[in-house]
Amino acid sequence: MTRIAVIPGDGIGPEVVEQAVLTLDEFRLGLDFDFLDHVNADTYLRTDVALSDEDVARVASSRSALLGAIGDPRVGSPAYGRGVLLRLRFDLDLYVNYRPAKLLSDRLSPLRRDRARAVDCVVIRENTEGLYTGLGGSLRPGGGHEIALDIDLSTHRGTARVVDHAFSVARREVCMVDKANAVEHGGGLWQRCWRTAAARHPDMATRHMYVDAAAMRMVTDPTTFDVIVTNNSYGDILSDVASAVAGGIGTAASANLNPERGFGLYEPVHGSAPDIAGKQVANPIGAILSAGLLLADLGHTAEAAALRHAVARAVTEGETTPDLGGPLDTRKAGQAVRARL
Ligand code: ATP
Ligand code: MG
Repeated sequence: MTRIAVIPGDGIGPEVVEQAVLTLDEFRLGLDFDFLDHVNADTYLRTDVALSDEDVARVASSRSALLGAIGDPRVGSPAYGRGVLLRLRFDLDLYVNYRPAKLLSDRLSPLRRDRARAVDCVVIRENTEGLYTGLGGSLRPGGGHEIALDIDLSTHRGTARVVDHAFSVARREVCMVDKANAVEHGGGLWQRCWRTAAARHPDMATRHMYVDAAAMRMVTDPTTFDVIVTNNSYGDILSDVASAVAGGIGTAASANLNPERGFGLYEPVHGSAPDIAGKQVANPIGAILSAGLLLADLGHTAEAAALRHAVARAVTEGETTPDLGGPLDTRKAGQAVRARL
């Protein structure tokens, strides 16, 4: 049996993960799901620890992992999210955040039809450095003279490995996105790592864009992108824009990867969405397509393709949740996908 750790988490996480797991079960691939049901905000509020060392070890020793969402309005402190999702990303060194954005159906695009059709790109976001390490501090906090510092960290090792990964998965072009005209030091390092990787892949087309221009292009002409590689914060934002032009936050999938170890933590791009939690109206497609990425990485490429195809058909036929204009609840939307496998 192949053990898959499952963290349903908070808000709509358990609702969408249930549909993802049922869909994976449909393929009868001998996957053994190990549910860490206690990793959530309730546990954190009771004990101050949501993810213990044993939990991290349990996830690390599994073949791969599936996550719903972490986040709860009752928890004010960023320490909670940091203690779960960022801890998993950092402790398991999941330095690649892989976020494909491919239009599932013409009906979903907010863009002009002729521009929408071929949106098919991947944002590769550096996942362990940048602005999200928590490095920094506040001087004279709370007063009118406060100075807040959040350090934007880029190391040569961290940058080179994620840029190399982008070249290894691109089909026709790698577009490196930074803001080197204003953020000089990190920008320079990213540029050097990108040029070195480009020289090793002379057959791959390359492009460089500043993040402001890339965000604009993602809306005006997203069809021109293949693989975008960028740092943690720019990747966070750009991939949300990409998911919006590809059909909406409820459909976007992602993988947190360590390619050397062949380990992945798969999760929908959306968060816990507390406004709709517990109502069975959340769209399960982001979670289901994340499970599809998991299948592909386990080598089940035919099953992964069948899953994508079934999702696209359900969406095109309007068998979806209200966020995509369909009449179905979360369970029925999951069933609609499984019925088309
Ligand atoms: P978190 O802090 O956990 O990121 P959030 O409040 O930012 O939570 P998101 O999940 O990021 O919420 O989504 C923002 C909004 O988009 C939600 O409030 C919800 O209305 C909508 N949304 C997100 N995911 C889905 C989904 N799967 N199906 C339908 N609507 C969704
Ligand atoms: Mg959010």
